[in-house]
Amino acid sequence: MPQTPTQRTTLATWPTPMEPAPRLAEAIGLRPENLWLKRDDLTGLAVGGNKIRKLEWTVGAAVADGADTLITTGAPQSNHARLTAAAGARVGLDVVLVFPGARSAPAGNLLLDDLLGADVVWAGDRSLDAVAAETADSCRTRGRRPSIIPFGGSNAVGAHGYRIAAQEIVDDLPDVDHVVCALGSGGTMAGLVAGLGADRVLGVHTGAVDDPRAQVAGLLADMGEAIDPAALRIRSDQVGEGYEVLTPEAGCALVMAARSEALVLDPTYTARALAGLVAAVRDGSIGPGAEVVFLVSGGLPSLFAHPGVPEVANGVDG
Ligand SMILES: *Cc1c(COP(=O)(O)O)cnc(C)c1O
Repeated sequence: MPQTPTQRTTLATWPTPMEPAPRLAEAIGLRPENLWLKRDDLTGLAVGGNKIRKLEWTVGAAVADGADTLITTGAPQSNHARLTAAAGARVGLDVVLVFPGARSAPAGNLLLDDLLGADVVWAGDRSLDAVAAETADSCRTRGRRPSIIPFGGSNAVGAHGYRIAAQEIVDDLPDVDHVVCALGSGGTMAGLVAGLGADRVLGVHTGAVDDPRAQVAGLLADMGEAIDPAALRIRSDQVGEGYEVLTPEAGCALVMAARSEALVLDPTYTARALAGLVAAVRDGSIGPGAEVVFLVSGGLPSLFAHPGVPEVANGVDG
């Protein structure tokens, strides 16, 4: 049985803007009129980002269930964790975030988690899922009603938010050839593929999961949209030394977007995704005449906490 979403908690203003990006297009080697930015960083709530689309449905399900506490897991600079904290503050639910390791300096997303009033549990080297389950148990013994929001907000219910985004994209650009997005926990790409078909979506793997193809295919199956995993278009050439390390290509992409369109990307996801688009135009898998949408999926707070960014920002050119 596919998991279908039941109730939506509206957390942002929709649809997000679609903006032309002629100077970035030329820098990449596309025609100036053929590159568009889907501005999912402009979703409004607490600096915005793609996780809001998923949280509208996962928090909707939690509220329908009578939950009073949201629990989720992620990396300390998780945008999903920050936006779960934001959703909880907006709706009036307690939020507990489970992060690996020991307390680190409150910068970037962590600073916002504190400001938004979330409790943070540091899991050391224990499994995040195990600590989240324990946290839920201890909530229950105190008479609370916790709901665990999955890693990255990515299950079939959350991914439904990106099926709606796909519809917004074709409403603006019915003939779009390629929608390029970062691939983290996979719900964003899965929802886009559910709405646009596998041929029109290019996911750029960020290193957040071990097997991105299985991850996205699994989400699509849960959505009742089973497809051949081999049909998914995924680039895995932008991971570099790992999820948390700024690659040279992503550094160039950060500089290119900032200096061509004053578009500020994040070092972990959107800069990698743009580097993947640059690579796809270079190797011909995206032709120069194609109509391309680049999903700007947010992540700005992590820019201010990433140790690799200052040196790149100072560089003379990209
Ligand atoms: C989480 C995230 C993504 C990837 O989305 P998934 O649905 O997890 O694959 C892309 N961009 C930003 C800024 C993110 O925070």
